[in-house]
Amino acid sequence: MNILNDFLAFDGIGLYCRYGNFYLDPQQPVQQAVISHAHADHAIAGNRQLYCTAPTADFMKLRYGKNAGGTFNTITWHQSFAIGAVEITFIPAGHMLGSAQVLMRYEGTDYLYTGDYKLQADATCEPIAWVNADVLITESTFANPAVLHPDPAIEISKLNDIKINILLGAYGLGKAQRLIRLINDYAPQKKLLVHHRIAPINAIYEKYGYKLGPCQPYNRKLMKNQDEYVYLVPPFTFDSYLRATGVKRLFASGWKNLQVNQQDTLFISDHVDWNDILHAVEQVKPQQIWTLHGDGSHLQKHFENRITVKVLN
Ligand SMILES: [Zn+2]
Repeated sequence: MNILNDFLAFDGIGLYCRYGNFYLDPQQPVQQAVISHAHADHAIAGNRQLYCTAPTADFMKLRYGKNAGGTFNTITWHQSFAIGAVEITFIPAGHMLGSAQVLMRYEGTDYLYTGDYKLQADATCEPIAWVNADVLITESTFANPAVLHPDPAIEISKLNDIKINILLGAYGLGKAQRLIRLINDYAPQKKLLVHHRIAPINAIYEKYGYKLGPCQPYNRKLMKNQDEYVYLVPPFTFDSYLRATGVKRLFASGWKNLQVNQQDTLFISDHVDWNDILHAVEQVKPQQIWTLHGDGSHLQKHFENRITVKVLN
């Protein structure tokens, strides 16, 4: 087993694998793109050859239409395929429907790119699965011992104490569907209304067999003189209702410090926290950890003299 230090590197376009001539979640259109999941900061339009799961392809086609990209090669879980001399396998990442970890084997060494991933239970996506790898390439956005995510069921139950209509802002893809399911499970007396931009995404979830529970299209009349409605809107709509009166405004976010007022935030994260990352390392058993998107210094300190931690940027 020989870990190649230059197996992956950022080159201004994205995270590039020179041994297979492909990019992971490129930031500019490329010839060969492996897409971990459909969030816009990972899945841009216009790549020529795409390798992703079927739900990811559906979400990208919904968002980008005809410009989504060239050829979508949809890949089944745990089924290996090759790009150049690199053998690739998709493993569920638990972050949102269709989100994949990308396992890359080259000359007998396994490199695991997690993409965004989470360990918390989520009835709206495939649960995370574990594989061993020599190198764990993980996001480190929340790789800080001070970051511990609360139980989403307890967060969502706060809605039960609010006795007026609620305007709930959330990202429309992934987060919104998780919230719909959580509200139906933990605040079932609430009646859910969804913004017209969220409904077609819900339809893709239903297509793959993920039941979100009752919700209906927004109708202005419904919210008049009633007090049990939750109107779920994407961030741009949420911001445009800044002066809305007679409703409780809440934003669902995984960023603890994003909202100045904690009273107006539901802290629900779709990422790993510090303990989750440590758990992932136990499961994957890597020789090395390469970190992305964040601060690798806490991991470096934690694994000092045990596991090499390299910051990729
Ligand atoms: Zn994401």
